[in-house]
Amino acid sequence: MKQVAILGATGSIGASALDVIARHPQRFHASVLAAHRSVDELVALCVRFKPELAIIADSVFETALREKIGSAGLATRVASGSEALTEAVSGDLCDSVIAAIVGAAGLESTLAAARAGKRLLLANKEAVVIAGPLLLDALRTGGGTIIPVDSEHNAIFQCLPYRRSDLAGAGVHRILLTASGGPFRGKRRDELGAITPDQACAHPNWSMGRKISVDSATLMNKGLEVIEAHWLFGAAPEQIEVIVHPQSIVHSLVEYADGSVLAQLGNPDMRTALAHALAWPERIEAGVAPLDLLKIGQLNFEAPDRATFRCLDLAYAALAAGGTAPAILNAANEVAVAAFLDGALPFLAIPELIEATLAAVPVAPAGDLDVVVYADLTARQAAQRIMRRDFC
Ligand code: NAD
Ligand code: MG
Repeated sequence: MKQVAILGATGSIGASALDVIARHPQRFHASVLAAHRSVDELVALCVRFKPELAIIADSVFETALREKIGSAGLATRVASGSEALTEAVSGDLCDSVIAAIVGAAGLESTLAAARAGKRLLLANKEAVVIAGPLLLDALRTGGGTIIPVDSEHNAIFQCLPYRRSDLAGAGVHRILLTASGGPFRGKRRDELGAITPDQACAHPNWSMGRKISVDSATLMNKGLEVIEAHWLFGAAPEQIEVIVHPQSIVHSLVEYADGSVLAQLGNPDMRTALAHALAWPERIEAGVAPLDLLKIGQLNFEAPDRATFRCLDLAYAALAAGGTAPAILNAANEVAVAAFLDGALPFLAIPELIEATLAAVPVAPAGDLDVVVYADLTARQAAQRIMRRDFC
């Protein structure tokens, strides 16, 4: 029986992961469930999955969680705060960790799971964007396995030989990351001025949390994924190409020296990647409908509109700048997206705020965690300041 910790259990990835786990009660037990503030949702999951430990990241809610777990008559222990997250993923309660917290908030626990040598099922792409080299170091030290859950990276993982020294050794020329293009694919800049949060979150193919939905609408999601692919697979930036594929059936492709291109296909349902990552190297039922290519009929591909959706090039530029630049990019994006979702920043100002923040915050070599955390904090403050000065 595999013991699985799910950080971000009440989110979209958390729900898909628990759906797969519930289909395989003989294989998996959700031993640790963690959420940010949603006490009632976490209690409901504890009633259903009976974890050993429930963690609420915001300590203000610990008492409420304890009382409700008690009234439900559960034996589940309760803890709170970020230390509880790192402790839980480092100890004996789990052998796999699903890192599905959204944003930089997931960094510490993701690194801790890697350091502890767990099987790390990585959805929290922001952690690898902010601290790619530190995550790779932690994985080497811990000796665990990382399996990407982000559908594109899970696809690439599936299309690459597992044991390889590097991409050149494996005969890989290029990685082709597919992008749906988001809800505004084909729109011109002058049509995007009055976009509302609900419009931006109405993704055509995937049902996801609000932050990643906005990232998909701006193409920053694909920008973050380019950086993620760089670190996870050791691909040079010029080896990573983004192609828009509106049907989201081909989840990504790997091109080899001999002209072969391997792709992973499937319906757009995160349970495929989660089931793959949970069971790897075996294959298990995920509850996903079979792919009906005859019904889909056509698979289309086009170039991304980099002039309208500028976040993609901002991400490539941050990757090229190196050091703390991706952490600054990510922090500015988190500030911009939160402000947009609050109705405080127009959609088209998101790339502008990120660009201005990147110009304002000096880039440093990203040698250790303190430097990266400091860059994240400085960039957040700068983004807030620039937003008040130029955009409000
Ligand atoms: P979501 O908003 O639906 O869920 C986020 C989860 O994280 C919730 O359980 C929330 O309680 C928890 N959380 C939020 N802030 C926290 C904090 N400060 N401390 C502790 N927990 C916190 O988000 P999601 O769509 O499930 O995405 C989660 C991560 O997975 C993101 O990094 C996203 O980019 C990545 N991802 C998601 C999808 C998808 O289909 N949803 C696909 C690929 C990658
Ligand atoms: Mg993705």
